[in-house]
Amino acid sequence: MTSSQQREGTDAIGSELYKFAIELYPICRSITGEGIRQTLRMIQRHIPLQISEVPSGTAVFDWTVPKEWNIRDAFIKDSSGRRIVDFQKYNLHVLNYSAPIHATLPLSEIKPHLFSLPAHPDWIPYRTSYYKEDWGFCLSHNQLLSLQEGEYEVCIDSTLADGQLTYGESFFPGRSAEEVLISCHACHPSLANDNLSGIVVATYLAKLVAALASDHRYSYRFLFIPGTIGAITWLARNQYSAKNIRHGLVLTCIGDKAPFHYKKSRRGSAEIDRTVAHVLSHMTESPEILEFSPYGYDERQYCSPGFNLPVGCLMRSVWGTFPEYHTSADNLEFIEPLRLAESLDICAAVFEALEKNCSYRNLNPHCEPQLGRRGLYRSTGGDSIANEINARLWVLNLSDGQHSLLDIAERARLPFRVILDAANLLRENGLLEPVPETSNHKEIAQEMAHKKSAPIS
Ligand SMILES: [Zn+2]
Repeated sequence: MTSSQQREGTDAIGSELYKFAIELYPICRSITGEGIRQTLRMIQRHIPLQISEVPSGTAVFDWTVPKEWNIRDAFIKDSSGRRIVDFQKYNLHVLNYSAPIHATLPLSEIKPHLFSLPAHPDWIPYRTSYYKEDWGFCLSHNQLLSLQEGEYEVCIDSTLADGQLTYGESFFPGRSAEEVLISCHACHPSLANDNLSGIVVATYLAKLVAALASDHRYSYRFLFIPGTIGAITWLARNQYSAKNIRHGLVLTCIGDKAPFHYKKSRRGSAEIDRTVAHVLSHMTESPEILEFSPYGYDERQYCSPGFNLPVGCLMRSVWGTFPEYHTSADNLEFIEPLRLAESLDICAAVFEALEKNCSYRNLNPHCEPQLGRRGLYRSTGGDSIANEINARLWVLNLSDGQHSLLDIAERARLPFRVILDAANLLRENGLLEPVPETSNHKEIAQEMAHKKSAPIS
């Protein structure tokens, strides 16, 4: 494929991802209710998705599935009956999970229920009150300042009642029962980077896996869940099968322009941590690798000590650190088709490296085999000849059954793909044999060894 064909492919997939984000953007989502159901049904048009409903009141570890929230309308009307704050124009105007109210109140009694952002006076903040029953409105600080004393009609036509918590799950069995987990939250209303970027990239990643028609090593599971309570609920219902998760990623905030950030799993040097760091270092500019911390997105639940799953979090801008975070400025202009397409590419490269990572044994380990005699001192056109030869020598040298292709790629500072191509070529020429896949148990032992041998920086 030429670079201009590649570029066109990226542009085309970027437009598709962005178009899907445009469709999902207007829906008023929350951690329960029709908004998340409608979102899941729209994802279902792209991929097979099993939708689960868990009743309010269900105990999930230390938590309880909350009442279901639905909203039809909300407004503040001035004395002339004009809607000055209108949910129909912008769903961020309502404190998400607001209890119903319909009353005429003086401004002084409404003010404690109004939220604005003085630092960004034109933006509307996104606020929630999931676990404390309250009502409220969010508006720009400029609008708040312009409100005159007097009486206003406030109405939030919502219901907070026993119902269900809804989440979606897409599972693609592979040759192994061991799983790759992709998880994203699907509970934010009109916010583009935080929420929609993860949903659209995860949906299209699932499409890529579906196109492989089960011809893959790992099983793949995609979760579209409400943040925190959704991950806790899923883990509570899948406590034992969660042990099959061999590698996992939480995807969020991956549609903006910032360089990539990867937050490592609690384990710190799991194969997923090393694979993502490796792929980012070869495919992107100035990526940053962050150590695990017990705050952030749903990796907090997957990495809680009772599970300690190898699940990291892939982002561009880091949650909570960009001014647009949880405001009306995290909108469709904040994300870009090309950025979404790049994020999809990175995830696909991570999948490829996980799928193909394995160890080989050099069948000719006493001194170098004579490559020239086998025609292996010439290029196959994959990369620069120097890199290709270099990769073959590294693979031969480290293929003692103890080093995986990822180990070799890291040590040789060459892209995984170049090392993989070299290994395939050497195998075709009878110089390598695969060693059986490592068990999860052995991988943990290797992680420990890798931690010990890692240089202290
Ligand atoms: Zn958020």
